Amino acid sequence: MPKILSSDTPETEFRTRPVKGVSLYIAEGTIAAMADHAEAGYLENKEVMGLLIGQILKDEEGTYVKVTDTATSDLDADEVSVRFKKEAIEDLFDSIDKCEGNAVVGWYHSHLGIGCFLSDVDIRTHLGIFGSEIGFAVVIDPSDSTFAAFYCSGGEQQKAPLIIME
Ligand SMILES: [Zn+2]
Repeated sequence: MPKILSSDTPETEFRTRPVKGVSLYIAEGTIAAMADHAEAGYLENKEVMGLLIGQILKDEEGTYVKVTDTATSDLDADEVSVRFKKEAIEDLFDSIDKCEGNAVVGWYHSHLGIGCFLSDVDIRTHLGIFGSEIGFAVVIDPSDSTFAAFYCSGGEQQKAPLIIME
């Protein structure tokens, strides 16, 4: 698995967040990349997924993340499920290496016409990747161009407020 930086590693830079109370900042271009990926999958009636790459930062309020890139690879997907192809994990690591940013800070996947939420499987996937570390799950529904971000706390999903950065 990719290296997931713990929120209390010494590398975590101290920088005051742009907006109080918001822990997730996503670059506009990253939103566009996820939307394009979801749209391409939608045309083939398939879900898509990828990882969110960026930086973990901290300030007086605690840790927060900036997402500046996405990484993905070949997928095994249909209209209700998606996962990385086992034989494509090397490609996934290569894709992560090419990204700006130094940490896997979340993941994204699409839902086809069922809206944005985390299913029980999604919550298990999320906890499998991030456990109790900081990590966000973005869900995109290309059927009506909606998206939302979530985190898991105590095994329950919570909607995460987010700011889109230019
Ligand atoms: Zn899902």
